Amino acid sequence: MNTELTKVFTRDEVTKALQQLHPTKAPGPDANTILKIPLSYNLPKDSLIWIGNKKDTFTVKSAYHIASSMVDSVEDGEFSYGNERTSLWKRIWHQKIPPKLKIFAWRTCVNGLPTMFNLNHRGIQCSSFCPLCDKTIETTAHAFFHCDHAKLTWAHWHNCPIDLSHCTRKLVDFALAIAKKDSSFALELFFAVAWSIWWNRNQALYDDSGAPPSQIWDMANRILGEYKEACSFSNLAQVLPSTKWCAPPTSFFKINVDGAASDDGRPSSIGVIIQANQGDSIAASSRILSSPFSAEITEALALQEGVLLASEMGLSKAIFESDALSIIQAINEGNHLKQNGNRVAHDLAKEARRSGVSQVWKGVFPSVVENLICNDRGL
Ligand SMILES: [Zn+2]
Repeated sequence: MNTELTKVFTRDEVTKALQQLHPTKAPGPDANTILKIPLSYNLPKDSLIWIGNKKDTFTVKSAYHIASSMVDSVEDGEFSYGNERTSLWKRIWHQKIPPKLKIFAWRTCVNGLPTMFNLNHRGIQCSSFCPLCDKTIETTAHAFFHCDHAKLTWAHWHNCPIDLSHCTRKLVDFALAIAKKDSSFALELFFAVAWSIWWNRNQALYDDSGAPPSQIWDMANRILGEYKEACSFSNLAQVLPSTKWCAPPTSFFKINVDGAASDDGRPSSIGVIIQANQGDSIAASSRILSSPFSAEITEALALQEGVLLASEMGLSKAIFESDALSIIQAINEGNHLKQNGNRVAHDLAKEARRSGVSQVWKGVFPSVVENLICNDRGL
């Protein structure tokens, strides 16, 4: 070993050596630029650092990001395609599809499914041929687009925004092409159908219970529909307590209920107001009860009145709101409101106590009720 090269150089020696460098003989940063780099006077020991993240320490996550960006640029030769993929990953993870479909979508796009070709490629001894048709090697493209059953399934997609019969394209290319069309639903349907095809292949292979293409197509659409419906219901259940009346979602009705009870021996009373998405009032009830009930029972009876009135009106999609938290918790549905958001139902209950009369209105309301509604909206 040449000890002259491994010895520790002093600052002066480095400065002198750099100044002797001629620009033409030593291309790159000139000596003055190098000498401007501040050096620590403490002369700490050199150490290896990882430049993949801000902590200077190696993590698999940072290595993955570096490796995937290198693969993207090597595979595609330009950054724009890498960006397209980055945007596809974002689209995949933000799709309104079940999480298992998102993971499946990502796996198929990175060619990570255990097709016979991939299994062989990873050293597993098995036939590479498609176990369903036995015509050719089971690649991802074959399993999803060229195998007869898959082709017949895709044939049900009459308004597919791209041509899926392109035989040289990979699954990720189709996904990118659909993503470019900017149709969220088409991309969701694409992955739902692909998932259903893969599920059916496994059923046919390992359970001997494959279904015909039309059923697989219906299954994919049903998965999307059921998931969206479940999401819309869970969003409704998560509405936070509000102090203001809020319109229900389209096609739903908001049913506000309230009860008035007191300790003075007078009968309890209840109020109900049913309103549509636009804020139009559909029906209202202001009813005096037969006896004085506890506050809790009065609130429960108010809720019952709301249910009965909604049933009479034939309303199937309804959101109930009450300011009685215990009632809402007991039925585990509907929204709890602070009293301000339930003002009309509260006033209707009070009106019944004041007048001692029970009344129900449907569609047309007397001025006293109209006034309560207008006051609540600040009209
Ligand atoms: Zn096949």
